[in-house]
Amino acid sequence: EAKGRGRGMHVSYRQAMRGQLEERALLERDLKNALKLGEISVSFQPIVANDGKTVVCQEALMRWNHPERGAVSPEVFIPIAEDALLIGPLGEWLLRTACHEAVNWSDDVKLTVNVSALQLNNRSFLGTVVEALAASGLAPERLVLEITESIVLEMDEELEGLIRSLTDIGVSFALDDFGRGYSSLNYIEKMQFSMIKIDRDFVQAASSGSLKSQAIVTAIVSLAQSLDMVVTAEGIEADEQAIAMRALGCTCFQGYFYGAPTESVARTVDGAAEIEDRKVA
Ligand code: C2E
Ligand code: MG
Ligand code: MG
Ligand code: MG
Repeated sequence: EAKGRGRGMHVSYRQAMRGQLEERALLERDLKNALKLGEISVSFQPIVANDGKTVVCQEALMRWNHPERGAVSPEVFIPIAEDALLIGPLGEWLLRTACHEAVNWSDDVKLTVNVSALQLNNRSFLGTVVEALAASGLAPERLVLEITESIVLEMDEELEGLIRSLTDIGVSFALDDFGRGYSSLNYIEKMQFSMIKIDRDFVQAASSGSLKSQAIVTAIVSLAQSLDMVVTAEGIEADEQAIAMRALGCTCFQGYFYGAPTESVARTVDGAAEIEDRKVA
């Protein structure tokens, strides 16, 4: 009987796997034409200062409105885009579109854009950023690139050179989702971040009384202060969370409590189709 059940589980596991692979293949197929079809847009979410009011940054978040499925989460389609080497064109489009929007904001509001490790590994990335800034007229000092710690960034000479070039023109970096992935101390040592964003799950734990999480946040804050980095608490949904994170030394906040991502902006900057057709990662 145990054997039979085992076999049954085996079959349904395989079916589930196959289902997932098919699902992924379908999404990948549709994602290939999504830019051209105008299904990709950008949404912005504020990051506020210690007073809980002053907007210091707006984070650009990619949106995919699938014709049949509706909104597909970036947690689902970004990994597919990375695997299928579509993140390059999608990321370039997003950067250009977001810069185009950001020039209309007050000068003291920065734009943060999430970038994938694959984009940073591409030789043309510096040119892409320079062009997006030039085409929009956005000051480089207003652009912050968010990098997640879960990605494996190979810090070779080429990447160090790219980061130095971007820093030299005035672009800065934020370390995203801190506490979610692997050890980021290595990154912090190798490159200069202007901001560390503490992951939502961590904020949740620290603000609901976990002494360990609180101790870690305190340590991060102290490290950040000595290295001149701002600490942002992500995923703040209630005032009590903000109060707790402020008490631990966080000075910037982001989350539904302050503002959910806006309705998306689907302003097509020149040549979306052209960008997509290049199909380079
Ligand atoms: P992220 O960069 O950490 O972005 C924050 C995510 O948390 C966003 O989800 C946002 O909507 C959500 N969020 C904000 N405040 C709250 C809150 O108070 N409570 C909860 N429960 N969630 C909150 P979203 O837009 O689904 O994006 C998910 C992830 O997808 C992003 O995480 C980022 O890693 C990735 N992503 C989004 N856009 C891009 C992009 O243009 N390029 C790349 N490479 N990745 C992107
Ligand atoms: Mg982010
Ligand atoms: Mg984040
Ligand atoms: Mg995240």
